Amino acid sequence: MGRSVLVTGGNRGIGLAIARGLADAGHAVAVTHRGSGAPDGLFGVQADVTDTEQIDAAFKQVEEHQGPVEVLVSNAGITEDTLLMRMSEDQFTRVIDANLTGAYRVAKRASRGMLRAKWGRFVFISSVVALSGSAGQVNYAASKAGMIGMARSLARELGSRNITANVISPGFVVTDMTDALTEDQRAATLAQIPAGRFAEPSEIAGAVRFLASDDAAYINGAVLPVDGGLGMGH
Ligand code: NDP
Repeated sequence: MGRSVLVTGGNRGIGLAIARGLADAGHAVAVTHRGSGAPDGLFGVQADVTDTEQIDAAFKQVEEHQGPVEVLVSNAGITEDTLLMRMSEDQFTRVIDANLTGAYRVAKRASRGMLRAKWGRFVFISSVVALSGSAGQVNYAASKAGMIGMARSLARELGSRNITANVISPGFVVTDMTDALTEDQRAATLAQIPAGRFAEPSEIAGAVRFLASDDAAYINGAVLPVDGGLGMGH
């Protein structure tokens, strides 16, 4: 059955692959962008996830276009990597605001419609570093670990209404985000990945498609690693 889906940051990278994967599965898919416009064939709404009013306006457009959001994929995210000694409080709070508070903002807005419908799926795109930690990513790893606590709390609050909240923790995926890695960082990382390669964005999309499907109705509060074995299940 086709659902009304919203993917934040679905204009490029992993989010775009997720949006395309869900559209291919027969869902009505909207994506947020911050001015780049909608990718071909997808419904686009402009919203920065750090801005509650923009989020509300975007949800209203989605509701008019395809009905209340039934599947929310919280994917928008940023990095501002540097060692703790050099990390300013602004660098810390900017990443938390976009990655974690942004996920809270869209989840809260989406929960209204899901509660009314007594059906919903939250999928949060976290990261393998949420559980392993990562030097130079105190802000990012904290934001991604926070998503897990948030999803599990949502699972407890809303699980009795046919609403699930799950987390996907990708390892390294070929996108603009990982293009920023130096050759040394890339080689050191690859040596740790049993698969011996980075993921393609479509491999994250496959996991989201599953969690959004009826087959995943009894999976709640789970963290699903899609990392080629990097985190060995964590
Ligand atoms: P990209 O940098 O390629 O894309 C990031 C996306 O997030 C863009 O669509 C961007 O929009 C959007 N975005 C960023 N900040 C905001 C904001 N404040 N409001 C709205 N949208 C925003 O990243 P990836 O595709 O690689 O990453 C997607 C998600 O997957 C992120 O949450 C990331 O942390 C996570 N992840 C990525 C991994 C990787 O190896 N690439 C590994 C593990 C997790 P815009 O185009 O406007 O900038």
